[in-house]
Amino acid sequence: MKRYVYVMICFVGILLCLTGCSIGLETGNIGGDFVNPHRVDTGCEYHLPEDGVCAECGAAIQDSQGLEFALSEDGTYYICVGIGTCTDTQIVIPAQYEQKPVAAIGNSAFAECTRIKSFVLPDGILSIGEEAFKSCRKCEHFQIPDMVEAVGKGAFKHCKQLKEFRIPIALQEIPDEMLEGCYRLKTVVMPETVRVIGSHSFDNCQSLEVIELPSQLTEIGSYAFYQCTKLQKLLIPTSVQAIGQGAFDESTNINEVVYRGSLADWLKIDFGSKGNPMTVCDRVLIEGAVLPETVVIPTGITELKNYSFDGSKTVKSIMLHNGIEAKNVPSLAFYGCPSLTDLYIETTQDKINSFKKTVYFSGNIHYITEGDS
Ligand SMILES: [Zn+2]
Repeated sequence: MKRYVYVMICFVGILLCLTGCSIGLETGNIGGDFVNPHRVDTGCEYHLPEDGVCAECGAAIQDSQGLEFALSEDGTYYICVGIGTCTDTQIVIPAQYEQKPVAAIGNSAFAECTRIKSFVLPDGILSIGEEAFKSCRKCEHFQIPDMVEAVGKGAFKHCKQLKEFRIPIALQEIPDEMLEGCYRLKTVVMPETVRVIGSHSFDNCQSLEVIELPSQLTEIGSYAFYQCTKLQKLLIPTSVQAIGQGAFDESTNINEVVYRGSLADWLKIDFGSKGNPMTVCDRVLIEGAVLPETVVIPTGITELKNYSFDGSKTVKSIMLHNGIEAKNVPSLAFYGCPSLTDLYIETTQDKINSFKKTVYFSGNIHYITEGDS
């Protein structure tokens, strides 16, 4: 039965498309059975189509007419490239145009379309271009299919009325500046499949209260959560390998960060300058607690990274075991710890000079050689 209905819908869809083409899309008036979402006052906030009708109120929904399309280079699909002559305030992008699938939204396609209140993208859309919906200042809702696997830089930036956003499941990489400056954005649903959060992607999202970082996340880009002033708590998964410069800088209300991994895992993270959340929050919990006064570098760690302790107010001394060579202690390894005064280095007599030459540390360095014990 379901299959029959689906076949019928496809058939009607094709018929409509054919008549639409013959009448000419400019007229925007095809039959009386379908209604343009923006012309109907049903009391429903957004008409979100499901099999041709609104899933909320049941109103029949017609795709927006007059949108502009361009054929892909290989001629197999269409790209929606602009608003064209369409006057809808709720845009429903069709799944097909001239009997070919609509599979992409072009660069800047709807940028600065300041009167649009919602966009519904059809199943079949696989990519969204750079700045495609940038500065759609009145837009409150985007319905985006889960199969979207690529989104360009700044695609939704400065959508100032957006309060909620669902990242599509197929999107593994959140592009740079994706939702930058969406300052009313309160909720972001991030699927577990996201691996990379791009630079400035949530920069200046001043209403964002909670962000659940997915468990397979490997990278948080520079300034990704810059000036997210409502953000209070963060859970950083063990999978994270890099946190870029200023990632949480100026997010002044973060009051607790829980890191899921061990101290050894933490010491493997590549931090950019001010990328360490300790620079914005006093309570970064690693293995359930803030860093102790004396940090003993775990034996599995053979090289240190820059900024691992940056911002820590508790660390007073750090002990390096003899598996760490001087060349594996970078110049900013102990940067930014106001209470750090003593460094204990376990090594052999003949290697002391190499530490003296290369390790940058303004406090006291104590060498512990084998003979000392
Ligand atoms: Zn509705």
